[in-house]
Amino acid sequence: MIIVKKPKLSFWEKMYIGAAFKGMMITLRHLIKNILNPTKIVTYEYPEEKKPIPDNYRAEHRLMQRPDGSVRCTACMLCATACPANCIEIVAAEHPDPRVEKYPATYNINLLRCVYCSLCVEACPCDAIRMDTKKIEQAGYTREHFIVDKDYLISNHPEDKSPFSIALY
Ligand code: SF4
Ligand code: SF4
Repeated sequence: MIIVKKPKLSFWEKMYIGAAFKGMMITLRHLIKNILNPTKIVTYEYPEEKKPIPDNYRAEHRLMQRPDGSVRCTACMLCATACPANCIEIVAAEHPDPRVEKYPATYNINLLRCVYCSLCVEACPCDAIRMDTKKIEQAGYTREHFIVDKDYLISNHPEDKSPFSIALY
């Protein structure tokens, strides 16, 4: 066991005037630096100015479509099984096309429970779900607004630049 003794402070050190002055000098140094070099300021004027989001950033989900517009998901449940937060709800139904076994009649994701781990994307055998929308801002008035359904996930395109991905009601 190491016993660390508390250093004895002098009267002036106990006043903390020197430390406060040192802190103010650092603030002043950064202020002058930012005034002289405004292009090198590292902060963003959010929400007017957005920080660029990398292409591989795990953002809101979207469901992919086949060329005919139908949802690519085959309701195999692998994503829901892999999900550690248990936030994917799928109800499978018989597909009218005999070449396709099933499709998701219901596909909901509870974004409040999601931990954005991307395990659902990795588990999917047919690239039916992606998290490349770059949408990270979410707002709503009730918990229900954050349970996104199949229609929302299908239309959740990365090109959609709306500031809030979940509609305010
Ligand atoms: S990102 Fe992770 S927590 Fe969110 S739905 Fe996918 S598997 Fe579940
Ligand atoms: S999104 Fe992929 S893993 Fe999930 S049910 Fe559909 S096909 Fe299966």
